[in-house]
Amino acid sequence: MGGARPKVTIEDDNHIWLTKLPEKNDRLNIQRIAYATLALARFVGLDVCGARLEKVGSRDALMLARFDRQGHPDAKAYARFGLVSGLTVLDAEDGYARDNCRMPNAVSLLRAARLARSTKPFLARGGFKRERCVGCRLVPSHCMCALRPLVPTRAGVCLLMADIEPLKPSNTGWLVADVVADTFAFGWARTETAPALVTLLSDPQWQAYVVFPGEYAAPGRVVHTALLPDPPGAAAARRPLFILLDGTWSEARKMFGRSPCLAQLPVLSLQPEQISAYKLRRSRRGDHFCTSEVAALCLALAGEHVAGQTLAAYLEVFTHHYLQARNQLPVAWEGVAHQRLREVCASLPQRAAAQGMAR
Ligand SMILES: [Zn+2]
Repeated sequence: MGGARPKVTIEDDNHIWLTKLPEKNDRLNIQRIAYATLALARFVGLDVCGARLEKVGSRDALMLARFDRQGHPDAKAYARFGLVSGLTVLDAEDGYARDNCRMPNAVSLLRAARLARSTKPFLARGGFKRERCVGCRLVPSHCMCALRPLVPTRAGVCLLMADIEPLKPSNTGWLVADVVADTFAFGWARTETAPALVTLLSDPQWQAYVVFPGEYAAPGRVVHTALLPDPPGAAAARRPLFILLDGTWSEARKMFGRSPCLAQLPVLSLQPEQISAYKLRRSRRGDHFCTSEVAALCLALAGEHVAGQTLAAYLEVFTHHYLQARNQLPVAWEGVAHQRLREVCASLPQRAAAQGMAR
């Protein structure tokens, strides 16, 4: 059988076993460690396959019952069941650094769902289709998956995305989803509201805000801070949830005006001075704020400064990789953007920073 380690298929008593063998250079008894790990997993209630250890000479062999085959005593054949491996679920490959294996983020999942609905392939601007990394949507030579930071933050972000927004390689919503663990993403449709969005908005742990210019909302709804007092009787402080309307300006206005589920929520209006202070720190891009910049500002407003700075630094790294790829230039791994991200990650608690410091 193929794979990184030696293994054989063994038939025994109408069962097929995948049998894992030691390798010459092993310094530990990997088979015993795997067996114990399965026992622990079973102990905590996970549904794991049958396993047994057998002696082969002086060494151990680990036999795993194949749950994707089922024997029948009368037939000389085995029924096959469909199966996807953990690597497939994580979009990873053998030999990937473990830090690169994460569940796909909310925006990736929305993109996958949107792609599944498309009848024709989506072509990014530029016309022809280039191979892109599934994690970061960049060409493989400019992949930045090893740089994903994970920041502890109380705040959450809910992205309402216009139809093709999750498919655009330049959309920065996925950067938010990478950095902020509690990021939710929904496709927006005028005629219906996703039930999961309604559930999210009624979850009492969150204080939701629609982030939108205040002049479009009734004055009573407009707030300028994300540090609102908790309603009377609330058991614990509520966590801020920022709803960002992700699309062109006209799409965003439509979402704002025609979403009944948003109509009662406070509208967080970013102040011109906050925007201009932010603009001083950024370079190259025009006046249009991208999704992750707005999210970084919101995090800062919620007092989550490290998270906001990390997201801003991560966006700079993305911008660098994106532009270098477009111009067919190499990545400057020691350049200003990467240095800044390393600095911000160095101020994070060690475990959370580990991924951002991978390079
Ligand atoms: Zn990548």
